[in-house]
Amino acid sequence: MSNVAGVPSSFWLASLDRIEKRRKLNKDISVDFAVVGGGLTGLYLAYYLKKHDPSLRISLLESQYCGFGASGRNGGWVSALVPFSKAKIEERFSLEVARAVDKVMVDGLEEIERIVALEKIDCELRRGGTLLLARNKSQERRLKIYVDEENRYRDSPPHVWLDIDKLSSHLKNVNALGAAYDEACARVQPAKLVRGLAAVVDALGVEIYEDTTVVEIAPGSLTTKEGYRVRAKSILQCTEAYSSSVTSPSGSSLIPIYSLMVVTQPLPDSFFDDVGWSRYETITDGRNLIIYAQRTDDNRIAIGGRGAPYRFGSKLHSGSEHSHKITDLLVTSLKELFPSLKDIVVDYEWGGAIAATRDLIPNIRYDETLGLGWAYGYVGDGVTSSNVAARTLRDLVLGEETELTSMPWARHRSRQWEPEPIRYLGVNGSILVARTIDYLENRGVDATILQRIFNALVPK
Ligand SMILES: Cc1cc2nc3c(=O)[nH]c(=O)nc-3n(C[C@H](O)[C@H](O)[C@H](O)COP(=O)(O)OP(=O)(O)OC[C@H]3O[C@@H](n4cnc5c(N)ncnc54)[C@H](O)[C@@H]3O)c2cc1C
Repeated sequence: MSNVAGVPSSFWLASLDRIEKRRKLNKDISVDFAVVGGGLTGLYLAYYLKKHDPSLRISLLESQYCGFGASGRNGGWVSALVPFSKAKIEERFSLEVARAVDKVMVDGLEEIERIVALEKIDCELRRGGTLLLARNKSQERRLKIYVDEENRYRDSPPHVWLDIDKLSSHLKNVNALGAAYDEACARVQPAKLVRGLAAVVDALGVEIYEDTTVVEIAPGSLTTKEGYRVRAKSILQCTEAYSSSVTSPSGSSLIPIYSLMVVTQPLPDSFFDDVGWSRYETITDGRNLIIYAQRTDDNRIAIGGRGAPYRFGSKLHSGSEHSHKITDLLVTSLKELFPSLKDIVVDYEWGGAIAATRDLIPNIRYDETLGLGWAYGYVGDGVTSSNVAARTLRDLVLGEETELTSMPWARHRSRQWEPEPIRYLGVNGSILVARTIDYLENRGVDATILQRIFNALVPK
């Protein structure tokens, strides 16, 4: 499994045919819109702008190849999740706004289903919902509260609590006391989604330049590493966790957090006879240090998790994309979830960076005077959020006041993260506390006090 870009950055990308990079920018150009970053955000944005007005001249510049970043590496959950707390949104704005946020996210999932069908993107999209398994009494207590709280913001489809009997229509012989179930989640093969979307955008007439790194963005023009300039009325930066690699007047403050994944070899039919999982639900449990899994179309389990240490100074480092410790933890988690899984052979392991703002609310901004825009900060919920963000940024750029431009993320600028070393201690401290709570709860110990400390450390 290798391709032109060397070692592919995920199993998903490695499973595709050889990736041929598109042309590189090798001259100065002038366009209407320049989009920086060929992940889901940049591609959706180019897609919606071009659909709005096919005569617009739009260029998209990508430093590696479309899908190289988180969009080609993720867990493939197309969920209605947001990284921030809706209760905080209700407190700060109103119940109506918190409910509107949830609706916009459920609509976002439906919009992705619509585009995938309309544009015939073959990305193994299946809508089976998501199961949040309760692995112990503490998780069960928390998840039942979660169902009630989330239903405060949702009419349809409702979140439901499944006791062990009801759970068996989704999953059997799983080590859980019950599960919270949300029908509003699908799963995809992420690299097929992002590469398929790039092909659609390409065919619409957006000029995609790959192997083209943007080093500086200024009002009216951007500059590439080779010194070429792109003049544009609007320049829209969609580089998520990589944003610090570009000099621009964004004033953004975000930290990269690494999420790591493994995929098993294809599992025998006997395993799925034993556990069910026929609807391809995405799966997690109620622990604090998040894990996320999906069943692939070729009967593997792809599972990811957090917990990789944060690097001092918010440094991006490819070394953070691999960790034996996290790989072992993911394999152990799988064995704990499914007792019939005795010998697990890992076929591929990888990781990638996600971006977190200080209040965990994405920042989708457009400065009309400068002609510059930004979209970032989805943490681990970017597959649907990137679509919602792209449509929000489109509306801001076009000067249209819509439901999306009234959302908490529109025109929002999060406050700065704390300076180092407080930031380092806070982020790594919260990982340690989360891991300790999960450890204690698995052994039946009540960790309420630590949970309060964790809630105070993590901005929600
Ligand atoms: C391991 C992992 C698992 C995840 N699982 C899920 C999940 O299951 N569900 C979910 O909703 N979200 C998940 N996420 C998050 C989700 O993948 C991201 O939020 C989303 O893909 C972000 O899309 P993006 O286009 O904004 O950023 P990216 O996909 O990171 O794209 C940014 C692009 O910009 C390019 N770039 C960077 N710098 C420059 C430059 N200077 N010049 C030109 N181009 C540049 C990069 O090469 C990259 O292609 C996961 C993320 C990871 C890493």
